[in-house]
Amino acid sequence: MCKNALSLDSAPKSGQTQFMDDAEAAAEAAGDFISDCVKKDLENGRFDHVHTRFPPEPNGWLHIGHCKAMTIDFLMAARFGGKCNLRFDDTNPEKEDLSYVEAIKRDVKWLGFDWGGREFYASDYYEYLYEAAVRIIKKGKAYVDDLSEDDIREYRGTAVDKNHITETPPGRDSPFRSRGVEENLDLFKRMRDGEFADGAKTLRAKIDMTHPNLVMRDPVMYRIRRENHYRTGSAWRIYPMYDFQHPLSDAKEGITHSLCSLEYEIHRPLYEWFIREAEVFPSRQIEFARLNMTYTVLSKRHLLQLVQTKRVSGWDDPRMPTLAGLRRRGCTAAALRSFMSRIGVSKTDSTVDTALLDYCLREDLNKRALRVMAVLKPLKLIIENLDEGAEITLEAVNNPEDEGAGKREILFTREIWIELDDFEESPPPKYYRLYPGNSVRLRYGFIVTCTSFEKDEAGNVIAVRAVYDPLTKGGNAPDNRKIKGTIHWLSAARALPIQARIYGHLFTAERPADVPPGKTLLDNINPDSLAIIKGALAEPCLRQAVPPDVDGAAGGQFFQFERHGYFVRDPEDGTDGEPVFNKTVALRDTWAKIKGK
Ligand code: ATP
Ligand code: MG
Repeated sequence: MCKNALSLDSAPKSGQTQFMDDAEAAAEAAGDFISDCVKKDLENGRFDHVHTRFPPEPNGWLHIGHCKAMTIDFLMAARFGGKCNLRFDDTNPEKEDLSYVEAIKRDVKWLGFDWGGREFYASDYYEYLYEAAVRIIKKGKAYVDDLSEDDIREYRGTAVDKNHITETPPGRDSPFRSRGVEENLDLFKRMRDGEFADGAKTLRAKIDMTHPNLVMRDPVMYRIRRENHYRTGSAWRIYPMYDFQHPLSDAKEGITHSLCSLEYEIHRPLYEWFIREAEVFPSRQIEFARLNMTYTVLSKRHLLQLVQTKRVSGWDDPRMPTLAGLRRRGCTAAALRSFMSRIGVSKTDSTVDTALLDYCLREDLNKRALRVMAVLKPLKLIIENLDEGAEITLEAVNNPEDEGAGKREILFTREIWIELDDFEESPPPKYYRLYPGNSVRLRYGFIVTCTSFEKDEAGNVIAVRAVYDPLTKGGNAPDNRKIKGTIHWLSAARALPIQARIYGHLFTAERPADVPPGKTLLDNINPDSLAIIKGALAEPCLRQAVPPDVDGAAGGQFFQFERHGYFVRDPEDGTDGEPVFNKTVALRDTWAKIKGK
């Protein structure tokens, strides 16, 4: 069965060329306003080359928002003939882990981005960062503070709303702000040596406690955490803060353009302050709007909460907006690429309708998916005029969009399965499927006419009877009879038991993170986001279906269950050893309708 089906390599090609090939799409996806800045920098000699980085923190798995960041980082470099580093921003020992590093690398590769061996870790820069901090202390521009983290926050002040005008009254100097350079150097060294308890001291930049931008009010550069780090173990008892670490790491790698999401915009003056005061390579930060999507959350903190509270089966649950979840659900790297080029890049935050991703998916899957038949809720159809044991071989097209996908053989037998919904005892108006006396076309098969049906004691229809017309092989009526309905079916002699999983939105609210007081994100969870259909049946060739995996070269197949939607095999079989199929997306295109409106 399915002769050619499984030999067809429908997997995405691997390698960075996937994303780099299409220069036009690349330019679009990489954002014109960023390109303009970069171009100007090259023209006016600020830089003579382009070098970017993608800097995930290994404290969770990557989500589709990171795909946007990564696309911009890698494509901007490619566009200007430059390079892009993969850097793990790992300076937070409590939350980071090697398993996250591995998951991140897997996902970046899957998307087709190649960091060309330039894999870096901010934790490798601890010594360099320490020396930079010492330089800043020596200039009298940083001091060791004994205030607690809470006091520091209070001394820095907060924005207040007076008559609807937000003001930030000046902060107050710490009593330790005037410590001398020698004392600061000594204390900072002793912080490093582990002499003080967690939180007992911090190193702060000495900038301006009256600055209107709170970020500039003597921000903390280092904190004491006697916590082991997944890479440096117990070597360090102090850890640099993101705002200090990030610009310095960029400079260390010679990053020309440090592209990041909009929430870092107010941190830019600080980024520049550290670069200037540490006297390092003048990396430049440019911000773009974050990707937000409806009915989901794009924040590792929130996603971690879903994993930890077991609302999902893991980071790669097919309902998750993580790259691993999307892949397991059947999303292709090509569909993500097309999605990224459609959403574009701007400086204004917006929320993208998830229906757009579905649209991109359908567009890609329509080209590559093998068409097969599966019956999710089976009902027996008995062909009265076909002998038991008789087998008629029929031909089915594997993919009408791709001639190269070939054809396969399917068998027609006396007992076949049809969809429960495709029979009605008393049909509603415009019902063109099976009911007593009516004829339908069996996909790739014959025209059959319903003769009768059987019920059990509870009144449920348990079998339907029909006769087939042997002159209609392939589904064409020689007498030009009008047959309005075509239904899918399976030979009962061969059908493969499968489990189907149908997914809905993870949240009921369009913006699930916007929660009213007293409620939490978890209150917005959709209790019906997963429907498990056991006892479904499919063509026997699906026994060998290959789940999509990271390494596209190893295979990975995409299917269209005719009339149901697109499906992929889950890497794990069901408890009875039956293959499990995840529904990727329905066939119907709601996006076109939304656009039409
Ligand atoms: P999260 O809020 O999910 O934890 P993050 O910013 O803390 O995200 P990082 O690992 O620090 O996660 O992010 C790596 C890069 O990805 C950063 O440059 C960040 O700006 C970018 N990024 C994160 N989320 C998004 C998003 N939703 N849209 C676009 N870029 C994003
Ligand atoms: Mg971050």
